[in-house]
Amino acid sequence: MYIDIQRNKGISITKQIVLAIVDQILSGFLQGGEKLPSVRSLSKELGVGFLTVVKAYQELEQDGYVHSVQGKGTFVHVKSTDTSKKYPEEKLTQDWQLSVQDYLPRSQFAQFHYVPEKIHLSSSMIDPELIPNQLLERELHHLIREGGTFFSRYGEVQGDMQLREAMQAYLLKKGIPTQPENLLITSGSQQAIDLIARTFVGPGDVVVLEAPTYPGAIDIFRGRGVTILTVPVDNDGMRLDILQHLCDRYRPKIIYTVPTFHNPTGTVLSSMRRRQLLDIAQAMQTIIIEDDPWSEVYYDQKPPAPIKSMDEYGHVIYLKGLSKTLAPGCRIGVLTASGSIFKRILAAKANTDLGTPLITQKLLLPFIESPKMVDHMDKLRNTLKVRRDLVIEILSEHCPEGVSWYIPGGGPNLWISLPSWMQSHHILFEAKKKQVSFLPGSACFPVDHENHHIRLSFSFMNVELLREGVAILCNILHSVILDKNISGHSSNFIVT
Ligand code: PMP
Repeated sequence: MYIDIQRNKGISITKQIVLAIVDQILSGFLQGGEKLPSVRSLSKELGVGFLTVVKAYQELEQDGYVHSVQGKGTFVHVKSTDTSKKYPEEKLTQDWQLSVQDYLPRSQFAQFHYVPEKIHLSSSMIDPELIPNQLLERELHHLIREGGTFFSRYGEVQGDMQLREAMQAYLLKKGIPTQPENLLITSGSQQAIDLIARTFVGPGDVVVLEAPTYPGAIDIFRGRGVTILTVPVDNDGMRLDILQHLCDRYRPKIIYTVPTFHNPTGTVLSSMRRRQLLDIAQAMQTIIIEDDPWSEVYYDQKPPAPIKSMDEYGHVIYLKGLSKTLAPGCRIGVLTASGSIFKRILAAKANTDLGTPLITQKLLLPFIESPKMVDHMDKLRNTLKVRRDLVIEILSEHCPEGVSWYIPGGGPNLWISLPSWMQSHHILFEAKKKQVSFLPGSACFPVDHENHHIRLSFSFMNVELLREGVAILCNILHSVILDKNISGHSSNFIVT
């Protein structure tokens, strides 16, 4: 079992083991009923004391994640709502697979992307009804009828030239002047983050992430074995005073940010802070990854220009994913950077997959170039604004006191903060019994998990299901508070 123990990290080794195992359980790598390595073998493998592992297992047991069976070992707790396949009895004793080292500390996607609930408030994808499906279908038939050579040859590693030209025009409208030579078509922004991480960072390097941040980015950087430093986010985005303090002591190689309708909080990095961030990056000779999945989807006013639009010295790698506005199934994103930074990422792309599938690039091209794209974005903004307002209305009317939220000016997410004693995982456990899911905020914290937040995504469900789901959530919050007031503690809501 791979656990990246860092001795000078400022948190105890016991805690590091606990957090790593919790991550693996929540990611679904370790499933209900699976046996953990014995205390002896894990302490030997990690090079840590026997008692350290004993303490970690005890803490996991107290928190309800595992249970020990005398003479048999320690097992991941099976939740009553656990739909995962149970292991046949004889296989439970074979923990040889866990002794095979891996370098994947966690993956939030494993658990949260394919949940069987009826009301998904966990998914920040757009409602399939809002995707221009018919137009894309027609285009696909057209491409197949044309009998092009999309299947019989590799495309350019860098991406289809026509699509790059169309994206050049698209980015120019956002204030980003670039050339097709400096654009790379990726399999979504997820791949772009991975390409940058595998190209530029490894063990010993420092990467700065916002706290909270996009869980998929945490998974990638944790997997590279870097030291992650975090900067909190307030209503104006990343706290640059704190970033400056960190940079006075450490020299980060990469600062990853979602400055526009931040995932998960929905906040926007102010224009002033965008300029300051660039100044810090210049002074520190650092790369900024500006991840921009949904700046087009604003509800009140247009967000400030991208950081990339001010980037004179090539510090910013800008990512424009198309999954959150067009078609996640096509897996298309665009990366722009300059100079040798760009060339090295391009080489990583070639090593990874020799290029993004040509057919999905060709499929999106006519839509991106047509005026329909503008109408489509208008429709997205208008429809999702109605959904955001609806959720806020229900929360304002029905949420118990002590629960607060940030009203996002765009994007698909609403960040809800619960009273600090509440555990969002426990609320999720109750919600799942009622066919509702959301993303527990702890998934979004790279280092010190805060457990009392909920990321509620309102982009995927229609108005009826949203209304039902948010009302159910409010009811659960009321009953948890009531239970605490009656019994003095929230014992009914342990993870089981
Ligand atoms: N960045 C952010 C901030 C995201 O929210 C997501 C998806 N939820 C991604 C990147 C990855 O998106 P994709 O690979 O589909 O473009």
